[in-house]
Amino acid sequence: MSVQPMFFSPLVDTADHHRELRESVAKLVGRFGRRYYQDCVKRGVEPDELWRDLGEAGFLGVHIPEEHGGVGGGIADYNVVVEECAAQGCPLLQLVINSITAPIIAAHGSDDMKALWLPGIADGSRRICFAITEPDAGSNTHKVKTQVSSSGNGFVLNGAKYWTSGIDVADAVMIVARDPEMETGDGRSALSLFLLPTDAPGLSYQPIDAAVMTPEKQFTTFYDNIALDGSALIGKRGAGLKQVFVGLNPERISAAAINNGISRFALSRGAEYARDRSVWNIPIGQHQGVSHPLAEAYIHVQAARLLNARAAQLYDIGEDAAEAANMAKFAAADASLKALDQAIQVHGGNGLSYEFGLADLWFIARLHKTAPVSREMVLNHVAQHSMGLPKSY
Ligand SMILES: Cc1cc2nc3c(=O)[nH]c(=O)nc-3n(C[C@H](O)[C@H](O)[C@H](O)COP(=O)(O)OP(=O)(O)OC[C@H]3O[C@@H](n4cnc5c(N)ncnc54)[C@H](O)[C@@H]3O)c2cc1C
Repeated sequence: MSVQPMFFSPLVDTADHHRELRESVAKLVGRFGRRYYQDCVKRGVEPDELWRDLGEAGFLGVHIPEEHGGVGGGIADYNVVVEECAAQGCPLLQLVINSITAPIIAAHGSDDMKALWLPGIADGSRRICFAITEPDAGSNTHKVKTQVSSSGNGFVLNGAKYWTSGIDVADAVMIVARDPEMETGDGRSALSLFLLPTDAPGLSYQPIDAAVMTPEKQFTTFYDNIALDGSALIGKRGAGLKQVFVGLNPERISAAAINNGISRFALSRGAEYARDRSVWNIPIGQHQGVSHPLAEAYIHVQAARLLNARAAQLYDIGEDAAEAANMAKFAAADASLKALDQAIQVHGGNGLSYEFGLADLWFIARLHKTAPVSREMVLNHVAQHSMGLPKSY
């Protein structure tokens, strides 16, 4: 059964076609539903059937230019797709990964790279994972140790990353590497960005025993003397960090969209249960102790969704979306954890059962308090850039 898409008022939509897009995505994903996703997690398999259908319907490529096989829309459209998948009980981390890799390739990839990868991302036939985090360089990207050096007409890559999601099913990995030859001696690290096939000799990975209950798995990845030809370089050598920024705001918006979708799923289920369940001859939703926390959660969720829609809109019109995208991710993570907790509470003991599909959403909702950027780094950004306070680190 699909969750009613209009249970939440459509006040957040910034374009006329969003309502129609929401309904189409909800209909498609609703055919799979929460049970399908839970079953994939339980069996340790990817949601391939859902992914294929999303690709065939064009939903995976709404943010990819038409000349590269996409629909030619923007991140505002993508926000709708990601949120609706999660609202139907299918929060897909791979959608967040695609929101960083596709814009970077579209903006900085060579023509060959665009032709090779973007149509496949749009139709779901190809996947790219993203590797920036390292054991000694998480929030501080300047400290990455994985590095490249020139070799003939190409490069050699050495190092290790961790928490790389989905490399086991990806065709290529987009990797951020230190490039000492491009450093100017001003004490700042130079970073370059590469796209390498996951079957490159010298690439290996080991699973991390992660607690998140998602089909996507996480890995420590090793790059041992990997020979790259010049075509593996994305954009300009030494400009990796600047180029990654093209994808960071879409990534935050998509992460927020996952949480907003989880919130809607949880509150829809919570409200339904509160209407149906009677313990004292009246529906439990008639007790204000039950209805008010749900209503309060709804308000926070709608505020988070509005912020996210605005962030996406700013990004699409080429304005600075950093403040809005950071705040949207922050607000969505907090709102979803409260909404989910309240939905679980309303369900009594059933809230903790797998059958009702709520408790196991906690892990992915909680993830986005930490990743792709932690709430503390968002607060640092707002304190420094929005409020003019001194940088603390
Ligand atoms: C399930 C999962 C999937 C992931 N997928 C990917 C992926 O696909 N690709 C990828 O590259 N990475 C991925 N990550 C990594 C994720 O992006 C990082 O975990 C996240 O950016 C935080 O980095 P860290 O873990 O190194 O924490 P750290 O940087 O070590 O931070 C630890 C704590 O200290 C705080 N802190 C650090 N610096 C400051 C400061 N200056 N001021 C205040 N507080 C600070 C942080 O906010 C945090 O609370 C994933 C992580 C998880 C858990």
